[in-house]
Amino acid sequence: MKSSSYRAIPAVEKVLQALGDIALPRPAVVAIVRRELAKLRGRTGRGQAVKPGAVPGFDNVLVQVQGALDALRRSRIQPVLNGTGVLAHTNLGRSPLAPSAVETLRAIALNYSNLEYNLTEGERGGRAAYLEHNLAVLCAAEAVMVVNNNAGALVLILRHFCSGPRREVVISRGELVQIGGEFRIPDILEASGAILREVGTTNKTALQDYARVVGKNTALILKVHRSNFFMSGFVESPSTAEIAALARRKRVPFIEDLGSGAMADTQKLAGIEREPMPAESLKHGANLVCFSGDKLLGGPQAGVIAGRGRLIAALKRDPFFRALRCDKLILSALQSTVDLYLEGEIPAAARPERATKDGIPILAMLRVSNEELRARANKIIVALRADGIQAAVGTGEARIGGGALPRSTIPSVTVVLAPCEGGPGVMAAKLRAGAPPVIGYVSDGRLKIDLRTIFPRQDEELLQAIRAALSPVNADHRD
Ligand SMILES: *Cc1c(COP(=O)(O)O)cnc(C)c1O
Repeated sequence: MKSSSYRAIPAVEKVLQALGDIALPRPAVVAIVRRELAKLRGRTGRGQAVKPGAVPGFDNVLVQVQGALDALRRSRIQPVLNGTGVLAHTNLGRSPLAPSAVETLRAIALNYSNLEYNLTEGERGGRAAYLEHNLAVLCAAEAVMVVNNNAGALVLILRHFCSGPRREVVISRGELVQIGGEFRIPDILEASGAILREVGTTNKTALQDYARVVGKNTALILKVHRSNFFMSGFVESPSTAEIAALARRKRVPFIEDLGSGAMADTQKLAGIEREPMPAESLKHGANLVCFSGDKLLGGPQAGVIAGRGRLIAALKRDPFFRALRCDKLILSALQSTVDLYLEGEIPAAARPERATKDGIPILAMLRVSNEELRARANKIIVALRADGIQAAVGTGEARIGGGALPRSTIPSVTVVLAPCEGGPGVMAAKLRAGAPPVIGYVSDGRLKIDLRTIFPRQDEELLQAIRAALSPVNADHRD
């Protein structure tokens, strides 16, 4: 028997009508409405005694459903304006792609391609041969292979080298790091069937510590770039070259996880600390290096493994590689990104006017001058003030993010919004709710938007978004 409260829950159709036109696919809307109404039924305690007033009024039901639909709409992947100053922000999609990479990706997506077809022979061909060749040139490596991401690269390497009788992976205690959300080096090692052989202490590991444990059970020596934190003070660890010499003597492979694939000298580029470069590590004797495609390299999400031809060939034969291979869109975007480097991105570092035209966006952001950023900020705040929105030009500290160069901040320029009702948290939420959403950050009780991570072509959009969210006129109209 239905109770009166249960009957008071509106029908799906009635709610759908009241919602009117919503910019979401109708089946998705229906599913949300059903789910929210089912929640209400649950709350009224179906089949049980119902407390009077347990069912909210129709308007409140509508508000609840609209909230759920808003949440669904906002979870759709969409462009946002990154005002955080974090260049390879993992939550915001890491590196934006270069326009030429997007053009290639688009052409490959819309058409058939020679992904695995040899145009000379007219038969099945290798995958990504061009990309692998050019990446090898860029990294000064004998051979290169590409997988889904750097975590995948690491798992493939560990599984492959630890599948035989030798299963120990020798690694410094100072490098048992956690990278991002759930990615912990010790967990990855364990999941790959490797046996962890820690050496040294958190802050000090000597070459002797490695030498003592490397033996007949050692599958490989792993060095992990401490990418998201920096230890200073009483710290010591042997260099890549020293570990490589030991590995050669003991006849075990030495592999370095570099985290970020910096192909350009970050010190020369932006006056910040020098991120290790793949070509250097290989030159210093690492047998293999692995790194991400979407951090400082500025490409799509991918994991690159570079180094000795014999080892790369063996990894490519591993059946597990098949589960980690990239799709054509990733391969085509990465191919164009790598070509940009080979066609002069690196020499162009000295000529920013050329490189920023169609260079690697993340490198262009790294090297843009604060004078240029300040000029843009001034224009924006003048326009905002004309609309009655109080704002000022401030300084900021941009960072690479994505786990690279933890102690390096790049002096930057921000648009600082004067606090209005509700405080900076409410303002930040309003900006996030806009179209496009703007993601700023709060510091010293002020909402700030770092211009280093906003493309100059987005300044007008940023201005409109701030206006729409914060303009006193709009606020009056809204309620
Ligand atoms: C970021 C990072 C990873 C993970 O790379 P993904 O491409 O995100 O899978 C692994 N190792 C290090 C040292 C990193 O900095």
